[in-house]
Amino acid sequence: MKVFHCDHCGQLLFFENSVCVRCGRALAYVLERRDLASLDFAPTDAAPNRWLSRFPDEPLRLCENYSRYNVCNWAVPFDDPNALCRACRLTRTIPNLSRTGNDRLWYKLEVAKRRLIYTLDQLGLPLESKHEAPDTGLTFEFLEDVLTGHAEGVITVNIAEADDAVRVKRRSELNEPYRTLLGHFRHESGHFYWDRLVKDTDRLEAFRARFGDERTDYAAALSRNYSEGAPPGWQDHYVSAYAAMHPWEDWAETWAHYLHMIDTLETAAACGISIAPPRKDEPTVTDVPNPVADSDVSFDAMMDSWTTITYVLDNLNRGLGNDDAYPFVLSATTVAKLRFVHETITAHAPP
Ligand SMILES: [Zn+2]
Ligand SMILES: [Zn+2]
Ligand SMILES: [Zn+2]
Repeated sequence: MKVFHCDHCGQLLFFENSVCVRCGRALAYVLERRDLASLDFAPTDAAPNRWLSRFPDEPLRLCENYSRYNVCNWAVPFDDPNALCRACRLTRTIPNLSRTGNDRLWYKLEVAKRRLIYTLDQLGLPLESKHEAPDTGLTFEFLEDVLTGHAEGVITVNIAEADDAVRVKRRSELNEPYRTLLGHFRHESGHFYWDRLVKDTDRLEAFRARFGDERTDYAAALSRNYSEGAPPGWQDHYVSAYAAMHPWEDWAETWAHYLHMIDTLETAAACGISIAPPRKDEPTVTDVPNPVADSDVSFDAMMDSWTTITYVLDNLNRGLGNDDAYPFVLSATTVAKLRFVHETITAHAPP
């Protein structure tokens, strides 16, 4: 993620901010500019929801999920006919708001989804909604009492995963060291992009060589996973225990992991992080590669910085009494799979 500043007063901002804590101005993310803009309310009789950024020739409108429900902080060009921003229009079914607490869960779901959309947009990946492209588009459904999953461009998320207490309980019951809402979104997007970037393409054979044959019986793999768990030694081949279940899940877990790397490296680069330990034999990081801003970043350069950064990240978290932010160990086989994801994305959309 980029580092954002209020373009009115210079205050450092987070991607999720909707008000500048220093100057009090409203803020909105404008996807067309890939930036947060500070806004002045400038309604007219004909246009009551008109706002001006510091680019006064370009009036904006707040996403309706922002102005009406406060679950979004994005804006659209004023003449965009859609009431919703590019992220919100991807959600086809929102939680049932007549139930107490669902508005809060919806907010968390949309926050995580916007982080996903931000990175997919930066990577130049296709993002049409199912409304725009019924056969190849993407849509989200936020439902109760369903399994989180993907089918034919529809990503279904069980809204209970947005409830911290529920998710932490599941994480512990399933013995998963890493389970986050953002992780779910990234994982499910992996299934969607497998259909777009691997299936029916000349990358399919190379995919099978690394991840295995996806025609393996999925239902049998699922029931084996729940009865026996991951095979011993899975760490040598897979990024997570769940990835060991089936080639499709291996791909989705690896894809999600790659997006974790992209976002974290972009943040580290944007913050100007460098790591220079006093012991000269320890690895240093002087120039974090920014895979989003720089099209020439090699996968090897990303991996070199990544290992050192994640050690520091985990150590800082331990110092604060938290669990490791990054509870993963990457084997050479897993790194080769990550490289395949990197090549698949860059082959499709040179950054
Ligand atoms: Zn400000
Ligand atoms: Zn929105
Ligand atoms: Zn999956």
